[in-house]
Amino acid sequence: MDCLFCKIVAGQIPSKKAYEDDKLLAFYDIAPQAPVHILVIPKSHISSVDDITAENSDIIAYIFEKIPSIAKAAGIKNGYRVISNCGSDACQSVKHLHFHILGGAQLSDKMA
Ligand code: AMP
Repeated sequence: MDCLFCKIVAGQIPSKKAYEDDKLLAFYDIAPQAPVHILVIPKSHISSVDDITAENSDIIAYIFEKIPSIAKAAGIKNGYRVISNCGSDACQSVKHLHFHILGGAQLSDKMA
């Protein structure tokens, strides 16, 4: 499968890792939109929020269990935003489910 984030998981494309275990990878976004901008992805390929099912949703719960410690370890202190863009209207550019963690500064009160 020609998937950029699967290639990052496989080590075929380099990334600056924030956290990794057997189920997920967290790495710094190449074009950060906040002082701390990390992407958290399941290692197994899921295309988007639209493709979360009863069979694969365990990893989603696991990702959200891990996000607070990933954010804390990255130095985020006063809160953060978690975003997942799904589909073309939301400008999803990489079709491998990912959660943006944005923090390290006061964020806009506008989300769109
Ligand atoms: P989205 O637009 O929600 O699909 O987010 C995709 C994100 O992936 C964007 O914020 C990109 O800057 C980021 N991105 C694309 N290629 C890379 C890469 N090689 N390493 C790290 N982040 C990347």
